[in-house]
Amino acid sequence: MDTPRIIIAIDGFSSCGKSTMAKSLARRIGYIYIDSGAMYRAVTLYCLDHNLIEGDTVDTDALQSHMDDIHIDFRPDPVSGKTHTFLNGIDVEQEIRSMRVSDKVSPVSAIPFVRTAMVAAQQKMGEQKGIVMDGRDIGTTVFPHAELKIFVTASAETRAQRRVDELRAKGVAVDFDEVVDNINKRDHIDQTRQESPLRKADDAILLDNSYMTIEEQDAWLIARYEETIDKLR
Ligand code: C5P
Repeated sequence: MDTPRIIIAIDGFSSCGKSTMAKSLARRIGYIYIDSGAMYRAVTLYCLDHNLIEGDTVDTDALQSHMDDIHIDFRPDPVSGKTHTFLNGIDVEQEIRSMRVSDKVSPVSAIPFVRTAMVAAQQKMGEQKGIVMDGRDIGTTVFPHAELKIFVTASAETRAQRRVDELRAKGVAVDFDEVVDNINKRDHIDQTRQESPLRKADDAILLDNSYMTIEEQDAWLIARYEETIDKLR
């Protein structure tokens, strides 16, 4: 019998290693990996480039009228083979990870019509199954019937250190306290927003990876995948 193809939803707090584990699992089992946060980051970059944000206030009327002009897609980089995020045909992979974007992404993601548009696009990507998607609302809103749901968490300090290491490895100078503040602020907005707040789906499996190595985390996830597939056979 062929191996069933499923949807795997990985949600959780900012910077707790969701994308690392999701990417690694997708590569290993030959699934598509989609970083839903990159889509919210791309919308945020569009807002910044079009002066639609003042402080933490987004000009929602103007943004709504621009929504049809925002096209986001993912393409493999010809050199590294890694997937890059494109906004209106331009590679924005590097720019969407900047603190400038991280700082404004949560207010933009809290806007209901932004979420409706992103969720519809994400659901379309999952029509054929065989997908691993990470984010905040994948197991609750985007794919409530996903066969495997994981909710990841780690201590705030561990998460901040991981984000600092990641940015510094890319040559970006960052201040640890600024990163901690940004993570705490984003988590607060993500958990308290009206529309699809960040929360663990009742049927999601909780993973606290504060003290796990990447190898241990990968092994844990592949075991959950295999268990799920065995149950479906
Ligand atoms: O995953 P990442 O940290 O790149 O996501 C950036 C931001 O995008 C989050 O802080 C959250 O505000 C928003 N987001 C969301 N829903 C998702 C994915 C990300 O609201 N499914």
